Amino acid sequence: MPELPEVEVVRRGLEEILKDQPVLEKIELKRKDLRGPIPAKKLSTLIGEPVTSVERRAKYLLLWTPKGAMLSHLGMTGTWRVSPWGDERDHDHIYLHFSGGLRLAYRDPRRFGCFDFVQKEKTHPKLVDLGPEPLGENFTAQGLWGKLRKKEVALKVALMDQKIVVGVGNIYASEALFASGIRPALKASKLSLERAEVLVKEIRRILADSIVKGGSSISDFAQASGESGYFQNSFQVYDRAGEPCRICGSILKSKVMGGRNTFWCGQCQK
Ligand SMILES: [Zn+2]
Repeated sequence: MPELPEVEVVRRGLEEILKDQPVLEKIELKRKDLRGPIPAKKLSTLIGEPVTSVERRAKYLLLWTPKGAMLSHLGMTGTWRVSPWGDERDHDHIYLHFSGGLRLAYRDPRRFGCFDFVQKEKTHPKLVDLGPEPLGENFTAQGLWGKLRKKEVALKVALMDQKIVVGVGNIYASEALFASGIRPALKASKLSLERAEVLVKEIRRILADSIVKGGSSISDFAQASGESGYFQNSFQVYDRAGEPCRICGSILKSKVMGGRNTFWCGQCQK
């Protein structure tokens, strides 16, 4: 599943492709729904408008025009690619046709993605309750600590709560807690401000590193040869239960927390 860094790399790829602000000429839907219905009528109000910017909010992509935006979520298996004529593939559900002959294809075999219409970001139900961006200036140790005061759940579960901070998914929650030396099962309300400062710093560092590592897929994207990429990082703890910790050699542990597998080192994390 694409997490925030992968989605940010896709955003940068789309921004590059759409930098000349091509006019949206046609939205060709191959089906009426993905995870939810696609509002074809509302989306058609954007026809004839130029795409003026590509934003990311949490794991949502927003292709803005002067009359509103197309909102895309990649779900589990969604990808955007430049698709010249003749490049139609199985599971292509959406083609966006632009001036100049540019065509973007959305492919999503498992169809957990979403494609929606947004008039204003602040009022859209999917966007309205989202917490701060982890790489933005509104994500601070003080703010995080304040929000965790009343949370009785495990810290790792709280970090994946989109109202607390967006886009820290299962992989990066485990990795950031390892890098911060904090046990994932620590009760969120017990996190000290001092440790919240370390955690915020590590979340930012790990996400930013992952975006840099994914940068190579942008060129594929722009050349229209490849699909928007998901990349494998070399993880410290994620998916490594039973293997030795790279720092201390202890056998790494795993446990399901909040429905998701969680990985940590019993020695390095307190
Ligand atoms: Zn260790």
